[in-house]
Amino acid sequence: MTAESLLPFYGYVGTAASAAIAAAVLASLHRSRQRPWLRSWSWSWLFLTFHSLLSAAAYIAARTGVGAQPRVALASLAAIAGFAQLVFLLSGAREAATGMLFPRARLAPVLAAASVVAILMALPGSSDPSAAFLRYTLRFGVRSLTAGVVFLVAALIVWRGLGAAPSLGRSLVTGSLAVTGVHYLHYLVVGVGGFASGTRSPLLTLLSSVDVLLAVVTVLGIVILLLEAERNAAVAAAAQLEHMAGHDALTGLPNRLMLLERTAQALRRASRDRRSVAVLSLDIDAFKLLNDSLGHGLGDELLRSVGTRLKGAVRETDTVARLSGDEFGLLLEVRDAEEAEVVVEKLRAAARRPFVLHGREIHVTMSGGLAISPRHAETPEALLAAADIASARAREDGRDTVRTFDSSMNEAARKTVALEGAIRKALVDGELRLCYQPLVSVATGRIEGFEALLRWESAELGNVPPSDFIHLAEANGLIVPIGRWALRSACAQAREWQKAGTPARVSVNLSAREFRQPDLYLTVRNTLSETGLPAQLLDLEITERVAMESPDVSQFVLRELRSLGVSISIDDFGTGYSSLAYLRSFPIDTLKIDGSFIQAMVGDPQSAAIVRSVIDLAHHLKLGTVAEGVETEEQAAVLRRASCDRIQGYLISRPLPAPEATRLLREDHRAARAAAGSVA
Ligand code: C2E
Ligand code: CA
Ligand code: CA
Repeated sequence: MTAESLLPFYGYVGTAASAAIAAAVLASLHRSRQRPWLRSWSWSWLFLTFHSLLSAAAYIAARTGVGAQPRVALASLAAIAGFAQLVFLLSGAREAATGMLFPRARLAPVLAAASVVAILMALPGSSDPSAAFLRYTLRFGVRSLTAGVVFLVAALIVWRGLGAAPSLGRSLVTGSLAVTGVHYLHYLVVGVGGFASGTRSPLLTLLSSVDVLLAVVTVLGIVILLLEAERNAAVAAAAQLEHMAGHDALTGLPNRLMLLERTAQALRRASRDRRSVAVLSLDIDAFKLLNDSLGHGLGDELLRSVGTRLKGAVRETDTVARLSGDEFGLLLEVRDAEEAEVVVEKLRAAARRPFVLHGREIHVTMSGGLAISPRHAETPEALLAAADIASARAREDGRDTVRTFDSSMNEAARKTVALEGAIRKALVDGELRLCYQPLVSVATGRIEGFEALLRWESAELGNVPPSDFIHLAEANGLIVPIGRWALRSACAQAREWQKAGTPARVSVNLSAREFRQPDLYLTVRNTLSETGLPAQLLDLEITERVAMESPDVSQFVLRELRSLGVSISIDDFGTGYSSLAYLRSFPIDTLKIDGSFIQAMVGDPQSAAIVRSVIDLAHHLKLGTVAEGVETEEQAAVLRRASCDRIQGYLISRPLPAPEATRLLREDHRAARAAAGSVA
């Protein structure tokens, strides 16, 4: 063999060496990066290595007169390896483009079919040298053609799959794949041309060294591609982190932090353009109840839907944030307060359209507070705080209301905070007292009992009426110790009256929170036994609303209390929503008709009719009746005609400090005795 005839052999070996290095690099990249396409391509280049080595061996075998069988075997193995190289190249290209593993089961049939073709091509034909030449040309042609086409297709798949973002790695990889494809086709033209003319073109040898170069460029491109992907992932992760810091995980909306940040930016813009920034705080009315009844999964979904709905109702440049629970915060850039109010109306209308979640229709109303710069505040925090204060006010007014902040609210909010601190001290410092307001029998005019009413004489704040502090004490839980104190004082007072021979029943108010204390029964029982007051001399008042909040629980608690021997009154009757028929099942003794009806009665025939029918029905149910807030003789006369049992109000007496109440009671007894004496 001449040195020149060995040139193709060296070409094959060179290609094999470069392919082996490429395969090794890809395999090691795959080990650290775990990308399916790296593994497929490392197989591809490994098969190219085999293909080239086997082709080199087949070439030598053909030149050195080795027998036909080993030659056929070598040639078919080389062809099989060549096809395998292309199959793995294509599947790897798919994997690179889609990011998903190419199903291995789909590879096997393709590989099998390619192997059959490869073996058929390698089978020796007749000994006619021209036929042998034809076979050789065919084998060479098929290999170059398929390789050329496959590399071009692979380049196209990778190019399209890796997206539009400019990337050096993508250009290098697809470029080198495409050039490799063209290179194979060029190889085909030069090679087949050479076979036809019977001479081997020296270009062929040169071309095989291009293989090495292309392998280097491809691998280089892959490395760059990976580095770029990693950098992109790091950038995306950083962006994600930043997003998380400024956004709420449940709804994906900006959070409080982001809202404040954007408000700060908007305030800068607004002062420059002489415009306004409005901050709106919006809550879903009774969300806690909704959430409990829907189940939390659906509750979360409702929050997301409300967020989306609100976002849809404002401009792209406005911000809808989720601040906490069911509290949303909105930043609106507006011309003036009027424009802000228009947007608020739009938002509330949007929230009122029913939400459909899992086939359920859910109706929602929202309440909140609005604050506008620069009138109400000029910093983001102060604006949001003002909106919160206005929102708290709106909640007090009932559902489906939005209030605009005004400075009197600030005053009120400051007072509330001061008041809360002071209530804590009141109990400890003994600033609380009870006053007693008599309940008088309409039939006899005699005192039948007293209602104990709290009075707070604060050293700092002066006399604070219960309407100003009971709901605060209720909200912060202090009502529980305050209520225990009131119960004990009232029982002790009634016990004194009893001991003095002037027994009178005392009525004690129980707030919602006290009524729901699990140890209420024990508290009442112990208080009675410790003060020595017979249970018949204690009456407990709960309002109609509290009794109706969870009727089953109420009935149970009331039955327990009544088993002690105390009586139960339903307070403020008529202001709730219960029907008398429903109350029938409640273990109660007395209805106290709310003062608002009594005061409306004179001059309003309808109120008078209501009061009359309530009294009739109550008697029918064997319940006693008390009219509250009786202020005039006229009212008393109407009540007498309606056969009301007892009256209570300024007409008889204001709530009195204990010594005065005691004096009144003593007089009442003396008068009764005198009347009895005169009769006798
Ligand atoms: P309430 O239980 O409905 O008490 C009756 C209220 O009507 C009392 O107000 C009483 O002073 C007032 N009143 C009495 N007669 C008249 C009248 O002729 N005209 C008018 N306009 N009002 C009259 P007060 O003492 O300010 O108590 C307000 C509310 O505070 C009470 O309403 C009750 O719900 C609550 N409260 C008072 N003391 C206690 C207590 O010890 N514990 C609890 N939980 N709540 C209490
Ligand atoms: Ca009462
Ligand atoms: Ca009342």
